[in-house]
Amino acid sequence: MKEMQVTSRIRDVQQRIRDACRLANRPESKVTLLAVSKTKPLTDLIEAYEAGQRHFAENYAQEAVEKRQQAPFQDAQWHFIGPLQSNKTRPIAEYFDWVHTVDRMKIAQRLSDQRPPDRPALKVLIQVNISHDPAKAGVLPSQVMALADKVALLPNLNLRGLMTITANDLSEETLRQQFIELKNLQSTLIKQHSDCTELSMGMSGDFPLAIACGATMVRIGSDIFGSRTPNQTTQRSNA
Ligand SMILES: *Cc1c(COP(=O)(O)O)cnc(C)c1O
Repeated sequence: MKEMQVTSRIRDVQQRIRDACRLANRPESKVTLLAVSKTKPLTDLIEAYEAGQRHFAENYAQEAVEKRQQAPFQDAQWHFIGPLQSNKTRPIAEYFDWVHTVDRMKIAQRLSDQRPPDRPALKVLIQVNISHDPAKAGVLPSQVMALADKVALLPNLNLRGLMTITANDLSEETLRQQFIELKNLQSTLIKQHSDCTELSMGMSGDFPLAIACGATMVRIGSDIFGSRTPNQTTQRSNA
């Protein structure tokens, strides 16, 4: 049955996370598994929830809001990991717990302004284009500190760390270097901004390596829910 597949795939990913933590001599409690459920039906999320999954990550605001409203559970955390357009920030500010893709002040300002006053501060990460890939969003490493200093002043945001989407098809050695570079950036950032404990990096193809390099959040889609159809890729931007 399809539902059982999600459960057993989650068990498998959890085991691989445990193995990676043991190898890296890091406590398992320091790595959070985010189930990337974009394009997948709510029934798949429910199966994941019943298997114990409590963090869901989505790329398209409208799709995510519908799932969140229809979900028969209230205690999950919802992470926005898609491209941010400044005219579409409101549902994200209203419905999400985390936003991983902040890469400019204008977006951060809007998210803060639009965060409902009765909700806790929105937890945000700055997206870093660690691969210097023109096809990827994010600030360059040299721009992280300046943006962080400004974002940290916004009243309804809580800056928690850094996120990256690495370029496709990098060699393992290059990927390792880039993950370590992001880890080093976060280690510098935390000296100024003590809440910046989080490092969101690693997807289905590379999460054990990301964990070895210090990831605290891994974003896993296809290894949990199966492959997505080709037009539903990570870079679709008509959120
Ligand atoms: C889709 C997506 C993922 C998950 O990718 P998989 O390779 O399916 O695990 C992770 N991060 C972001 C930003 C994504 O858009």
